Amino acid sequence: MVFAHQSPPWYRLLKWGDYLIYILITCGAIVLFLQGPLFLKPVIGGEALVRIDGLVTRTISAAELAGTGQFDLDAHGFHYTVEYAQGQVRISHADCPDQVCVQTGWVSRQGEVAACVPGSLILSVEPGANSPIDPASTDPDTAVDVVLK
Ligand SMILES: [Zn+2]
Repeated sequence: MVFAHQSPPWYRLLKWGDYLIYILITCGAIVLFLQGPLFLKPVIGGEALVRIDGLVTRTISAAELAGTGQFDLDAHGFHYTVEYAQGQVRISHADCPDQVCVQTGWVSRQGEVAACVPGSLILSVEPGANSPIDPASTDPDTAVDVVLK
């Protein structure tokens, strides 16, 4: 360690690492703060969409999602049962070969999806037409501005 007193790169790196960790923690806290209401109350005014081959074939409205129910549908020869309850929705049964869509389980937050590749089926939760969520609060640009302060 002859050069340690002349060039202390190791602790400078450590310091930068510390700053980085603080910044990451701060970013994480801000993101959690902004996204918090979404975690606490899934699908605020959101709706669930079922797409087959990219085409919306079934819409579960926010009002429907607030209650409970289920329906069956077919895609590419596979049979699916979609179940929804209290703002969550899932593919509860499917006879597709991989069962990935069923194992995905409940999706409830906007942007979450349960997809079935064999059936080209995508179940997604998206902001509804009357979503009360302020788009600015989930806008990535706004989040970056907050971080830079
Ligand atoms: Zn599947």
